[in-house]
Amino acid sequence: MKVKASSNHLFQLTHLGAINCYLVREDDGFTLIDTAWPSGQAQAIMQEANKLGLPIVRILLTHAHIDHVGSLDALHDALPDVPVAISERDARLLAGDLSLDPSEPQDKQPGGYTCKTKPTHLVHEGDRIGSLEVVATPGHTPGHIAFLDTRDRTLIAGDAFQTLGGVAVSGTIKLLFPLPALSNWQKELSLESARKLLALQPSLLAVGHGRVLSNPQPAMERAIRVMERSLAREERKQLHVS
Ligand SMILES: [Zn+2]
Repeated sequence: MKVKASSNHLFQLTHLGAINCYLVREDDGFTLIDTAWPSGQAQAIMQEANKLGLPIVRILLTHAHIDHVGSLDALHDALPDVPVAISERDARLLAGDLSLDPSEPQDKQPGGYTCKTKPTHLVHEGDRIGSLEVVATPGHTPGHIAFLDTRDRTLIAGDAFQTLGGVAVSGTIKLLFPLPALSNWQKELSLESARKLLALQPSLLAVGHGRVLSNPQPAMERAIRVMERSLAREERKQLHVS
């Protein structure tokens, strides 16, 4: 695992050059955001936290896809007292439930990753966990959440955006790294969530796939325009067909 300090509070841990999780420094230890892939990453994450000199005191999950919750069970086995938080909506996905609510768009979910770990906390828009504020960003999954560090406006956006292969809103296919787009649930909601994240005026954008961007707003804005144009094209095509 490669470790990079992105700010005083934020450390990016990267597996296989493509899958990120984050250690956020708080007064009482590290908050781990996402848990990478299965297969031995739990040990690697704990070792890196150790080297940085603080214990992992809580685990937050942006959403229940394999590359974000893959090592959750192994981490929970090793750190059974550490609280685990996910959105109430994606807790269902984490438990293997792919059903949709009647009020939600009925697009089929491309799949989640089932864990035996039961979250200890189900979080919602506006909740505070240490310095981090929960931002509901549905689209990539129904219960996807991002976290805004209120100390310096660092935004940990999960898969709402990617920067690997180019900056993109989830749902826009980047040929060099199409995974987030292929596992996206609902494009219109992804676009809405991307606009919401831009409006937070983040100083730093940390994503599930790709490097951390400083002063990310112009790049986020461009990615939003690309997504808007592509959705408008799809809509025109549909009109043509019907
Ligand atoms: Zn994902």
